[in-house]
Amino acid sequence: MAITVNFHDDLASLLRRQWRHQPQLKLAATRTASIKDVVESFGLPHTEVGRLLVDGREVAFHYLINTSCHIDIWPITPPWDVLQPCFLRPHPLPHLHFLVDINVGKLGRLLRMAGFDAASHPDLDDTELAACAEAEGRLLLSKNRALLMRKNIHFGRIIRATAPPQQLHEVLNLLNLHGQMQPLSRCLECNTHLEQVAKEEIDHLLEPLTRKYYQEFSRCPACAHLYWPGSHVKKMLALLARDLTA
Ligand SMILES: [Zn+2]
Repeated sequence: MAITVNFHDDLASLLRRQWRHQPQLKLAATRTASIKDVVESFGLPHTEVGRLLVDGREVAFHYLINTSCHIDIWPITPPWDVLQPCFLRPHPLPHLHFLVDINVGKLGRLLRMAGFDAASHPDLDDTELAACAEAEGRLLLSKNRALLMRKNIHFGRIIRATAPPQQLHEVLNLLNLHGQMQPLSRCLECNTHLEQVAKEEIDHLLEPLTRKYYQEFSRCPACAHLYWPGSHVKKMLALLARDLTA
């Protein structure tokens, strides 16, 4: 008895090294296993799967495979709306909030720069990260496949790009977020919404040149970090502008 599995579109490029780039693979049907476990036995986390067909019939992740069949695995395709229920994920996220793993840490900073809720917890281990994503309803962004394969991760994504600006572009494209950016509304350090603050209030904290040239300031109510439209902010806005016009 044999199971044949077809990995469609870019999914074959995400498989474990020995199977990578092979769009069709065979497997002996020697035991009963959920289709989620069959998919993940090739190294592909279930978070990347948008549609599963067994002999042409759509099935869910818990569907049991115990005999010869043909499996088609299709990726999630943009625009991915994580706030709407779908066949494989009947319980959507309550909001679009991200949890960014340490292996794509700079992406977290860029998402916060663009105004999205993107939590980072470099102090947490994988079990704690997965629990946090589940409890807070966050979409986990990571390069760690073992973490994304956990059962309590319902929404996650392997980040394909290497450079942080391309990673940001990848996430914005996948979720169609270009129109939802609110640049510099959130603290880059701790993810809290920024508040406008009067210059008089923070005047004593400013360097002489900053005091001389800038009039508008924002402050993070959680960590007290100050923001103003200086040269680093201009650079950040230039980076985001590439995506705003994309
Ligand atoms: Zn802060």
